[in-house]
Amino acid sequence: MSRNYDPRNALDRAILADAIHEAMQTAGFTLMPNGSTERLGRGVREVVYQRQINHALMCRVYTTIVGTEVREVGLDSIKACVLYKRLDGAVRGIGKETRVKRVGLVADIVERMMDRARSVWRSATTGEHCSCCGSPKATSRAGNLYCVEVCWNETPARQAEIAIANGWAPAVEAPAASPRTAPASAPAVTPAPLSREAVNALFA
Ligand SMILES: [Zn+2]
Repeated sequence: MSRNYDPRNALDRAILADAIHEAMQTAGFTLMPNGSTERLGRGVREVVYQRQINHALMCRVYTTIVGTEVREVGLDSIKACVLYKRLDGAVRGIGKETRVKRVGLVADIVERMMDRARSVWRSATTGEHCSCCGSPKATSRAGNLYCVEVCWNETPARQAEIAIANGWAPAVEAPAASPRTAPASAPAVTPAPLSREAVNALFA
């Protein structure tokens, strides 16, 4: 389609919906069977795609597709975000969600959607991690970063359990020695990185 997407045109809305489905599936995302009523209100199910990043992180795209078309109107943009499933099962958003307005050419809207998904994916995997348990950090309402597992409230045993689930190397204890010879701090540890192939495969 070489003209701009027109939200008042039912055919355009169906074409955009198809293009979103195709792009998401090509990128390895899977359709969440029941969609979401989270943003569009009770009884209005939005199509949601998800791709697992690792054992705890998932990238999600809220498409604004309802049925076979994207929504006609509304301020609801396509939204990409990354969620973290805590060891206790609670799911928390981490990092910034990004929104895509449905304006311009269909191909451009879809490309912007993929860009946002890539960017939230990358920031979730390369962003700051808790030095204690290896969990990613989330941003509080006040704008501060905090461990998404809230591990400072946990017992050392539970912290260790979380760290193991995260594949996080335990912090190395500085050897007891005189202040002159002891290292200033334990060496920095980094989480096992997501394989490059896994990231590339997503958006190949
Ligand atoms: Zn932590």
